[in-house]
Amino acid sequence: MAEETSSQSTKPAAPPQAPPAAAVAPPAAATEPKEIKIKVRKPKQRSCDEKDAKGKLCAGHLKRWYDYPKEVEGKIGKEAEIYRCEFCKTLYKPDPKQMLHSFTLRY
Ligand SMILES: [Zn+2]
Repeated sequence: MAEETSSQSTKPAAPPQAPPAAAVAPPAAATEPKEIKIKVRKPKQRSCDEKDAKGKLCAGHLKRWYDYPKEVEGKIGKEAEIYRCEFCKTLYKPDPKQMLHSFTLRY
């Protein structure tokens, strides 16, 4: 007769303070329709450094974008070198400083 002694100290947890479900109000969204965001790539930057509303890094892959629409062409020129994040669609122009390899970026 083995008596199982389960000595689990189950403390009565304090009731979680559940926030009201409907209390999560969205931040005041500045609605700028179709605003194209164009950033400049940092030297050797290969992934997106945009952060979302929660502060999470996007880290999407920057892909060369060839067939961009007219509205983008008006901003960067025709047949320009442009990269686009695969996630948030932020555009990245190549950094002109990328040629200078002596340039050291310090944070
Ligand atoms: Zn991104």
